[in-house]
Amino acid sequence: MSPKASMQVLSVASEAYPLVKTGGLADVVGALPHALAPEGVAVRTLVPGYPGVLALLGDATAVHAYDDLMGGPARVLAGTHAGIDVLAIEAPHLYRRTGTPYADAQGRDWADNGLRFAALARAAADVGRGAVAGYRPDLVHAHDWQAGLVPAYLRYGAGPRPVTVMTVHNLAFQGQFPASLLPRIGLPAESFSVDGVEYYGAIGFLKAGLAMADHITTVSPTYAAEIRSSESGMGLDGLLRQRASAVTGILNGIDIDVWDPARDDRIAARFDVRRVKARAVNKAALQAKLGLDVDPDALIFGVVTRLTWQKGMDLLIEVLPRLVQCGAQLALLGSGEDAIAQGFAAAARRHAGRIAGLIGYNEDLAHGIQAGADALLVPSRFEPCGLTQLCALRYGAVPVVARTGGLADTVVDANEMALAAKAGTGVMFSPVTADALTTAIERTVALWADKPTWRGLQRRGMATDVSWTRPAARYAALYRTLVEHHAQ
Ligand code: ADP
Repeated sequence: MSPKASMQVLSVASEAYPLVKTGGLADVVGALPHALAPEGVAVRTLVPGYPGVLALLGDATAVHAYDDLMGGPARVLAGTHAGIDVLAIEAPHLYRRTGTPYADAQGRDWADNGLRFAALARAAADVGRGAVAGYRPDLVHAHDWQAGLVPAYLRYGAGPRPVTVMTVHNLAFQGQFPASLLPRIGLPAESFSVDGVEYYGAIGFLKAGLAMADHITTVSPTYAAEIRSSESGMGLDGLLRQRASAVTGILNGIDIDVWDPARDDRIAARFDVRRVKARAVNKAALQAKLGLDVDPDALIFGVVTRLTWQKGMDLLIEVLPRLVQCGAQLALLGSGEDAIAQGFAAAARRHAGRIAGLIGYNEDLAHGIQAGADALLVPSRFEPCGLTQLCALRYGAVPVVARTGGLADTVVDANEMALAAKAGTGVMFSPVTADALTTAIERTVALWADKPTWRGLQRRGMATDVSWTRPAARYAALYRTLVEHHAQ
């Protein structure tokens, strides 16, 4: 195959931006088709037909039908949205519900999630084997546990199969279901083994994908190494060590058209690396919007996150008094656990004008924080890649991050030697404790006080390539190697 010959890839996931999004997974799955097109890779994206997805697809055409897909009739619909070639599984018994892709309005996981995502994988395997007339992908790329059974259905089915790649976006979510589900999801009894889908007496969707995919990728080189250790492997490290030669870390990029401070109509004033000073308008707008004191001299730490233990938000709450004492402000945007939201709400009451934010999901404010905050805090306990620090680099908000996973791979710590060499794009700290976070906040305040140094951090950050160009080339090269090897 010549280097840029066209290749067909079926990408399979539970979310894809802008069709449906709850987190970074959607950003990545939504960006890959655009990023890979210039590499000669044509991507079709298979997602569950949640009501919102079907509404966006409009008059999609049915390209495959099931009398019974995990308990009811279903169709695979083909359509396009926002330049993405979409296949959606229309299966009302599985997906026609209000709530998130995974849970009801009260946040309780759907009881039949095992069936719902087995259906996604089943359909992917069928499409992978040519169920849609005129379409036979060279490779099926499965994302996270929701697509973890794709390699299993392909392995235990008959006939030639495409290459499989399993990408781990977050090892913390593994998709474990009772063994009794096995006959209902149409996998043979023999699949219930250590090198099959069995995982500590249950069915492990992600485990199955990791055990049976031809290749495994994860979203940063550091996370690829971390997940092979017992501290970070979340029970799957043994398997990942065994498969070490088939594991690759490829960093995520961000969509630099969606995240472009020079053309962003969600922010008060547009700017670029030559007009960094224009950020001041966005800073004042952010302070006014959130009810922070409008003070150009107060360093604003921004946060855009899910409110969970993973993201270190409990530690941030603990150190807020010190952050305020340093003269800084906090602008928070987050959705997630109630207890954490309440912790921030209490701090905002105690430090009115210094700590403020919005609990919820709000893309406009996410852009407003990246454009107006001086620094962006990401104190994650673990972070497979992290996207918000990439947005921050592009928007001139200096990232202050934990030294873990993709954060360690994307931010260059502005230590003394780095600064002497005119390098450094942010502040990095470890271990992820309240003390180390406090020190990082103090270091950031000291750097902020030195304006030429601070400008240097911002400029270098804004000049960093956070696009999909390099990662897409790496995916394309990996796909080609795997497909060529498979054909031999
Ligand atoms: P994760 O996928 O673990 O939540 P990432 O940093 O990989 O974290 O991706 C988070 C994505 O979701 C980013 O695009 C970020 O801007 C967005 N995001 C996170 N929380 C919010 C929120 N409350 N409102 C709007 N966007 C959010």
